[in-house]
Amino acid sequence: MKKGERASLPSVDRLLSSAGGRRLAELHGHTLAVEAVREVLAGQRARLAAEPGAQCADEATLLAACADSIEAQLRPSLRPVFNLSGTVLHTNLGRALLPDAAIAAAAAAMGRPVNLEYDVDGAARGERDSHVEGWLKRLTGAEAAVAVNNNAAAVYLVLHALARRKEVIVSRGELVEIGGSFRIPDIMASAGCKLREVGTTNRTHAKDFEGAIGKDTAAIMKVHTSNYTVQGFTATVPEQHLAAIARKHGLPLINDLGSGTLVNLEDFGLPHEPTPREAIANGADIVSFSGDKLLGGPQCGLIVGRADLVAKIRKNPMKRALRLDKSRLAALEVVLRLYASPERLAREVPTLRLLTRPQAEIRALAERVLPAIAKAVDGRAAARVVDCASQIGSGALPVDTLPSAGIALAPHGKRKSGAADALAALFRALPVPVIGRINEGELVLDLRCLEDEAGFVAQLARLAAPTRAP
Ligand SMILES: *Cc1c(COP(=O)(O)O)cnc(C)c1O
Repeated sequence: MKKGERASLPSVDRLLSSAGGRRLAELHGHTLAVEAVREVLAGQRARLAAEPGAQCADEATLLAACADSIEAQLRPSLRPVFNLSGTVLHTNLGRALLPDAAIAAAAAAMGRPVNLEYDVDGAARGERDSHVEGWLKRLTGAEAAVAVNNNAAAVYLVLHALARRKEVIVSRGELVEIGGSFRIPDIMASAGCKLREVGTTNRTHAKDFEGAIGKDTAAIMKVHTSNYTVQGFTATVPEQHLAAIARKHGLPLINDLGSGTLVNLEDFGLPHEPTPREAIANGADIVSFSGDKLLGGPQCGLIVGRADLVAKIRKNPMKRALRLDKSRLAALEVVLRLYASPERLAREVPTLRLLTRPQAEIRALAERVLPAIAKAVDGRAAARVVDCASQIGSGALPVDTLPSAGIALAPHGKRKSGAADALAALFRALPVPVIGRINEGELVLDLRCLEDEAGFVAQLARLAAPTRAP
């Protein structure tokens, strides 16, 4: 090509058959390579038409654009992040992290046939819940158990199976909304039940329940107010008393525990949270709770309780629509088995490990990573180690916080709030996004949930090059 002559746009075939084009097809397959080449050439054509004097990019540049386009398309949408938000069970970040053994069991089940509903050894394992039912009975003292997609599904299924077209009595103080779309009145309605509210927001008495029971009543329901507390002039009917009222009228008492840890959290230095075992002992006939909150397992909802009621729930046609798949059942079985050795839980179940991580250990971690962070934000913000407070999250123990430590990043300059947002965006733009929280014009990175220290530090260098990551 002579000097001054305009390079013409190469053809799709010419780009594809060049060495670079062939390499693209080898790496990503012919289909994606052709699509990217067409798209990039169309872009060039449009640019040349719009800017009469413009030069066509050379082949190497066009091929690089093709590679960028393919990589952008193939970048996973769901990817790991660093949860330095200070909320351990963060619903939007996927809640509980599973123990390695549970991950291995889930992976094995996904890649191989398993005896999901197949009785291989005559031990009557023809039912998928049988793989976890024994453990759930043992860990809660219940007669029977069912596992479904999540606790919202569990509550729905219980209501649908036991109280459809009938009334369910709930205290006005317990008509909870759990982030997003789980609201007791709405779930009641969609399960076909009529909500019968009794008492007031702050006070509900036994006579309120007694007075509401009629021929249409199918159940009394108690909902653990997991994400708020009512303080001051309050009264609730103790569970045992509620159970006695239910029994007297031949009604089941349903208890939605929400988080439902299987151990006494006080043994781990954490605030008490009601357990399914306590709820059963206090007379609940059916108890439901989440698998991926304090329990630390896969997303699921667990229903435990009286054998006759559980049988009815299992036979309900909606059970099929809400059931667990083999990978989550495999993971759940492993996690429940770990609970047989409570003394190992704080080490082996990541949720409990993170919740019980001592502040001194987190502070030491903060001191170790401070220099790397300070260097990475040099010129943009000042970094220092701070004490902070983590939350358990997912509605559990809302008013309690855990003493923690982290790094506070104070942006230089005056417009602090916007600057902190910009800093937060920079950390989120890292290859493994770092999610912190903004507090009073500073970005705070709570290090309670940082376990991959090396991986975290390794990518910080990219922050130091503000314009473009290498
Ligand atoms: C979290 C919660 C639910 C919903 O459980 P998911 O597992 O998120 O579906 C229902 N009830 C209570 C009281 C809860 O805390």
